[in-house]
Amino acid sequence: MTAYDPNNIFAKILRGEFPCYKVYEDDHVLAFLDIMPRAPGHTLVIPKAPARNLLDVKPDDLAHVARAAQKIARAAMTTFKADGITLQQFSESAGGQVVFHLHIHVMPRHNGIALLPPASRKEDVKVLEDSATKLIAALQGG
Ligand code: 5GP
Repeated sequence: MTAYDPNNIFAKILRGEFPCYKVYEDDHVLAFLDIMPRAPGHTLVIPKAPARNLLDVKPDDLAHVARAAQKIARAAMTTFKADGITLQQFSESAGGQVVFHLHIHVMPRHNGIALLPPASRKEDVKVLEDSATKLIAALQGG
């Protein structure tokens, strides 16, 4: 498998070289909004440790990401009045991966509403700010 590339966009976000709409952070993970959401509140959860995808991530780092994905999913259910949640993780180009730092997509779902195609439109800044503020409040129990 190809080696991890420290210049991928999510590595730059982790190093603070590129902005993001952060919703959650702890010692092991960072969660931020997808700027081209396939559903309102679409969030990406990534490990702080470098990992290209599911195939090379250390099991403990994957466990931290899974725990954080559950936290985000629970908060997103109330924040976005969702009926359900879809998680997705793509590994390697053939698996649909575009950014090569492991991430889990957490997508709030509503009955009868299909996901938008991947990367179909960049969301309005105001919408992203509003989603982040509400999700952060829910994650903090507010
Ligand atoms: P995947 O690699 O699983 O196919 O998806 C990469 C995801 O990253 C896509 O959903 C895309 O919209 C998102 N994405 C691409 N560039 C950026 C970026 O600069 N910032 C954020 N927050 N998301 C991005």
